[in-house]
Amino acid sequence: MTSQTIEVVSDVVCDVCGNSTTKEKGYAPEFATLQADWGYGSDHDGEQYEVHLCETCFFSTLATLKEQRRLLLMFSEEDDNQAAFDLQSENNC
Ligand SMILES: [Zn+2]
Repeated sequence: MTSQTIEVVSDVVCDVCGNSTTKEKGYAPEFATLQADWGYGSDHDGEQYEVHLCETCFFSTLATLKEQRRLLLMFSEEDDNQAAFDLQSENNC
C-alpha cells in the first residue's frame, strides 16, 4: 500500500502584517508578490526574495514607493515614467 501526500495551499499569510489573505471562505487567497532573483553582476548575486503582501500592505507599499519616487524626482523636470505605478488593467466580472 502506498500513500501519497498532496500539498494544498489553502491560505497565504501576509509577510508584513501577518493577516490571512483569504477574504472569502472557499475562494483563493488574494495577495501580491514582491519578488527578486538577483544574479551575476548584482551586489546580491545568488539571493532570492519572495514577499507576500495582503491588499492593504500592497497599497501601503505602493504609496511609499510613489512617495520615494516623487522625492527622487523632485528637482527633475521630466517625469515620463509614472505609468509603472498606475493601474495596469481592470477586470470587472
Ligand atoms: Zn498585510
